[in-house]
Amino acid sequence: MCEFDLRSGALCPSCQRKLERGEVTRLDIDVLTALIDQRYQFLSNAEYAGSIRLRNKIFVALRNLEASSQEAAELSLQLSRRLKSLVRVLRDNRSFTDFLAEVLSPAKILAINVVWLPDGTEETIITVDDISKLQFPVEDIIEVTRALKGRVIRIEKAAPRH
Ligand SMILES: [Zn+2]
Repeated sequence: MCEFDLRSGALCPSCQRKLERGEVTRLDIDVLTALIDQRYQFLSNAEYAGSIRLRNKIFVALRNLEASSQEAAELSLQLSRRLKSLVRVLRDNRSFTDFLAEVLSPAKILAINVVWLPDGTEETIITVDDISKLQFPVEDIIEVTRALKGRVIRIEKAAPRH
């Protein structure tokens, strides 16, 4: 997306074609437009990785976000005001394991196991220490992971020790 388009609110022919081909969505444009007005230092190296709207929430994934959790929360709040929806900023990562660690924090990942289902699809089962510590609902984490990473996951709590 061109910054000029985002500032002017009109799309150039090249970006218009990207929208028509589905390479960018209307939501991407709305989120990027809100993001370019944010003046935070910690956004200077940040890279937009995608957004997904789930029910009343918008998850915005950013790479190289050099923000503390408090700063990320502040950005979420600013974007929520601009987009008039509850926005949650996520730290995206090219590494699937690092991405999972981020979306599941502050819960800790104890194990990751990939299983093949009878229909030939793959499911990643993630065992965490405590589901009640998750900052997002389990269904949201599952959908965000499917949308951003194309992976089907299941989240399980560690079996109690005997
Ligand atoms: Zn453009």
